[in-house]
Amino acid sequence: MDWIEIALQVDGEAAEAVAELLTRYGHQGVSIEQDNIASEKWDDGDVPPVTTLTLRAYIPADDRAEDAKLRLESALGHMSMMYPMPRPVYTLVHEEDWAEAWKAHYHPVRVGKRMLIRPLWIETEIASDDLVVALDPGMAFGTGTHPSTQLCMVGLEDRVQPGMNILDLGCGSGVLAITAAKLGAAHIWGLDIDPIAVRVTDENAAQNGVAAQITAQEGSLAEVVASGRQYDLIVVNILARIIITMCGERLGDTVRPGGLALFAGIIHDQADAVEAALRQTGLEPYARRQDGDWVLIEARRPA
Ligand code: SAH
Repeated sequence: MDWIEIALQVDGEAAEAVAELLTRYGHQGVSIEQDNIASEKWDDGDVPPVTTLTLRAYIPADDRAEDAKLRLESALGHMSMMYPMPRPVYTLVHEEDWAEAWKAHYHPVRVGKRMLIRPLWIETEIASDDLVVALDPGMAFGTGTHPSTQLCMVGLEDRVQPGMNILDLGCGSGVLAITAAKLGAAHIWGLDIDPIAVRVTDENAAQNGVAAQITAQEGSLAEVVASGRQYDLIVVNILARIIITMCGERLGDTVRPGGLALFAGIIHDQADAVEAALRQTGLEPYARRQDGDWVLIEARRPA
């Protein structure tokens, strides 16, 4: 079977809504890629270019494809009354190329002070103190190119202490669990509701030589709360809406008194609402980090 790639270029503001729309049509998720910004090209005093993201999803190229396109375009039409929406670009992808198609858009990327995300199939130059995370996200979320993932990596780089026990809720490709392992965490429990993410996290952990430090399982907050376990640090890069819901389901209990928590997947105008919910679950927000429209909130559980 052949596939149709749907690509949409959006700004950070529109990304979440469009990604949610695409997940209704796309098979096995939506890929999010931050478009390259030619930073050397703008001089001091120029207005920095707006960060754009490319979202991609794939639908089967069968007799329902035209109908799917029409419904997608009509939904975009409705959304464009509130916010300008891009036009989708369709590309036919042959079955044998499909699983590989998105890889063409994926390159090594440096994050934080010394982290380097390297697609598994690309060799790249590595400095002696580089902390390399080699990834094949496959069809799981988390290529490491999304600003929200990068904010989490920078947060981990600053906060992980050797020997910590960490919870990675919504582990996707395992990118954050592997980052934490390489930063010296004793153990990371990666949970995801998507079984593909669990398999991919295991595979990537093995590729990075940190399988012994990472346990990936299918599940979510309920499993952690039921286990009664508490962590030195939790990282949750999902979506503001889901984080707020989790706050009503004892999210704060998963952090040990005196422990830390990093929350991302949050657009800046949602940050106040997320912080209010965090306080309700017994966490104390104390810092924000921002990249374009995306925000990471750092919180602690009072000792
Ligand atoms: N941690 C990765 C992936 C983030 S994408 C990164 O930072 O790049 C968010 C992930 O959360 C997806 O893999 C999705 O399947 C998972 N997810 C969504 N809702 C969830 C929930 N309620 N509980 C656990 N995982 C969830």
